[in-house]
Amino acid sequence: MRKSSYCVLNKQYKPEEYNQLLEKIIGHMKSTGEWGEFFPVKLSPFGYNESTAPDYFPLTKEEAVKGGFRWAGRTSGLFGKETITWDRIPQQIDKVDDSIVKEILICEKCKKNFRILLQELNFYRKIRIPLPRHCPDCRHGERLAKRNPRKLWPRKCQCAGEKSENSVYQNTAKHSHGNNSCTNEFETSYSPDRKEIVYCESCYNSEIV
Ligand SMILES: [Zn+2]
Ligand SMILES: [Zn+2]
Ligand SMILES: [Zn+2]
Repeated sequence: MRKSSYCVLNKQYKPEEYNQLLEKIIGHMKSTGEWGEFFPVKLSPFGYNESTAPDYFPLTKEEAVKGGFRWAGRTSGLFGKETITWDRIPQQIDKVDDSIVKEILICEKCKKNFRILLQELNFYRKIRIPLPRHCPDCRHGERLAKRNPRKLWPRKCQCAGEKSENSVYQNTAKHSHGNNSCTNEFETSYSPDRKEIVYCESCYNSEIV
């Protein structure tokens, strides 16, 4: 069936049959609103909260269910099977024995069980950092929380000519707008209430490039 023509799924048709069938299938899909769309959510065996979708589009349970998604009562994972507690594990990585890879650990945040792989242990030893006390899922969430939100705010450049508006940053180069405040406006993932100084591309490049 590889590289064959006039096939629907794993069945081959005569060209005329195929063209008729194609028209019928596409017509049906258009009538149900499925044509050109992703697979319908009702085919998904997973809960919305078990997928990576909430990383980008966080929804409450009510919103997800209203949108036709499933919702998992308790997300997957092992609980209550830990073989060691954190008070018995040294804080300094040098004092952690290889036998830790045989133990089942417990996440200090969500209580889910997790393990440490030997390669992981060797990596922590190499860069001299303690064992993580949070499970991989919680660590993933913590890394995501450090990123800027997937949202843009309209803002004005905070360059006031010789320094930043709040006088915290002293410019090191001459800008195209001279000693007047820059009037450029743009969209940024840094919300207006954040403390970072936000320059437009031109002012930023004048300082950095
Ligand atoms: Zn966790
Ligand atoms: Zn500017
Ligand atoms: Zn400027």
